Amino acid sequence: MGLHSSSIADPRKGQYEKNKCHKKLRRLVGEALTDYAMLEEGDKVMVCLSGGKDSYTLLDLMLSFQQHAPINFEVVAVNLDQKQPGFPEEILPEYLDKMGVPYDIIEQDTYSIVKRLTPEGKTTCPVCSRLRRGILYNHAQKIGATKIALGHHADDVVETLLLNMFYGAKLKAMPAKLRSDDGRNILIRPLYYCRESLISKWSDYAQYPIIPCNLCGSQDNLQRQVIKEMLVGWDESNPGRVENIARSINSVTLSHLGDRRHYDFEGLIAENRHVEPETVENRRIDITEVR
Ligand code: SF4
Repeated sequence: MGLHSSSIADPRKGQYEKNKCHKKLRRLVGEALTDYAMLEEGDKVMVCLSGGKDSYTLLDLMLSFQQHAPINFEVVAVNLDQKQPGFPEEILPEYLDKMGVPYDIIEQDTYSIVKRLTPEGKTTCPVCSRLRRGILYNHAQKIGATKIALGHHADDVVETLLLNMFYGAKLKAMPAKLRSDDGRNILIRPLYYCRESLISKWSDYAQYPIIPCNLCGSQDNLQRQVIKEMLVGWDESNPGRVENIARSINSVTLSHLGDRRHYDFEGLIAENRHVEPETVENRRIDITEVR
């Protein structure tokens, strides 16, 4: 997405629009950090930096909050150089040195492993993501990071929700804060409330040295692509719908869904009726056996 020609023509207007965009991102990130208690005094936050617009924006905002937040926390940027052909390895160190941000570049040839392990014609992303996750989690432990910050945004959250519903028959999205599967790390997603279009706009203003994400030669899987196109269509035909879906994830009424593991439908009785606890146990009748 390019910058508007009017903002190029009038630099003051351009600067105003840029500030407005950054302010909006800061507000949304500030809300997410607060709502989900993402940061604590003394945290060491490992910001995963891929070289894409989302991760640059994330790093930028975490540094901005580091300067102004009422608590002290450290930020370390970490990039995993997966040895993809054509990966411009000098770009991130140059950028991070210029910014004065502490960083680590982990060099590990996951590219060859992924190619070897993925059957012909299949998308390489699942194996690649699993490997990358393991390496980054281990690194977080090694450097004593207390939080791992990821650059997923509101569009990723909605896409994941719809993917899980459409193809996995599950009502499950992507959380703002999560304990990793192996229990060792706390993951945070400070861009949780930010739309991708806002991040793209900011990324254009900031002129980050973007590293293309298709170096591995893989395509997004087809299902995710279908969902992405749906979101783009809705943004044009029904503005606000995607935002509403994103907000619905944070406003769940368990009693109006159907998951018996999360709501005690069996124990539901009218207010003026007293039932002995042991009777509740016996209230379940298998209707399929009733003739
Ligand atoms: S697009 Fe390439 S680098 Fe990204 S997860 Fe998929 S295989 Fe890995």
